Amino acid sequence: MSRYWSDHVADLSPYTPGEQPRLDNLLKLNTNEHPFGPSPRVLAAIKAATNDNLRLYPDNDAMALRQTVSTLHGVDTAQVFPGNGSDEVLAHIFNGLFRHGDRPLVMPDITYSFYRTYCKLYGIACQTIPLADDYSIRVSDYAGVQPAKPAGIIFSNPNAPTGIALSLADIRVIALANPDVPVVVDEAYVDFGASSAIALLSECPNLVVVHTLSKSRSLAGLRVGYAVASKEIVDGLMRIKDSFNSYPLDSLAQVGAVAALQDTAYFDETRNAVIRLREALTQQLKTLGFQVLPSQANFVFARHSEHDAAALSRMLRAHGILVRHFSIARIDQFLRITIGTQADSDRLCNTLSEILLKTH
Ligand code: PMP
Repeated sequence: MSRYWSDHVADLSPYTPGEQPRLDNLLKLNTNEHPFGPSPRVLAAIKAATNDNLRLYPDNDAMALRQTVSTLHGVDTAQVFPGNGSDEVLAHIFNGLFRHGDRPLVMPDITYSFYRTYCKLYGIACQTIPLADDYSIRVSDYAGVQPAKPAGIIFSNPNAPTGIALSLADIRVIALANPDVPVVVDEAYVDFGASSAIALLSECPNLVVVHTLSKSRSLAGLRVGYAVASKEIVDGLMRIKDSFNSYPLDSLAQVGAVAALQDTAYFDETRNAVIRLREALTQQLKTLGFQVLPSQANFVFARHSEHDAAALSRMLRAHGILVRHFSIARIDQFLRITIGTQADSDRLCNTLSEILLKTH
């Protein structure tokens, strides 16, 4: 590390996203993208965008998008905070809501790994709570957390990479037990079977619910996400964003995101298809001898009692199939596999079947 950097930079351990190689005939089941592509209305809307969409600066307040989100979720426009993907939304949340001296941010020990990266980046202490033996979040651990006043609480629901979801009743318990701190629920995968905590906002104003268009709307390449929270919290986040002098979204992303959110028929059809494919893949994997955790997401988390997960992941890769393996204690025998098309599942399972036979 260059002597010009501060110790703080030397200390950073950057987030490692799943690989994004661009090779032919590669089956990419490693970063939870949607197999079917976005609503055709998205490209149509982007193509129909006028010269002024490009000539002028974008709408800094992304009003059309915020109005569309507010109608979708039945909240006020002033309760919607947009960003370039939910990762950027989370960055503003960490920067704005969680920096309280030594007070730690509380989170499960196994969750979206980005949260720890942002803690390091923003100098936020972090306190992790182990998942239960069945890999679920144990609600009682978050009701009246130690220390008495953390900087906040954050978890994904469904959790990543387990895919296991909490019920709204459980989230309500956590939010009500910690009324003085923000409770951030990252709902990147919520549309594949869980319920959104946005429904609890009027009762629990400390909730901040984060959504992305990268997963169930199949728009990972467009970079659009948003948070829904109380007006007071969104007002603070807007001030942070404006202090960066950063635009929330470019003009074409705003136009495309609105079109995606408005096409509810396409959304329902494709996410239901992914849910059916998840159930089918779960059965196929179980037939091959895998244990599969109950997933409400567009991926499954599976392990084989007789085969090492790291080795399986390497062998799949040699066959042109990418899945995600984490070298993290307690979950290092699992593979996280994104739900693809039926043809993708068949290619994966046929390959796995060959590998399992050969290496027995
Ligand atoms: N939260 C979770 C739990 C995720 O898995 C991801 C995707 N890696 C994100 C947020 C970020 O998604 P995006 O920035 O594409 O909106």
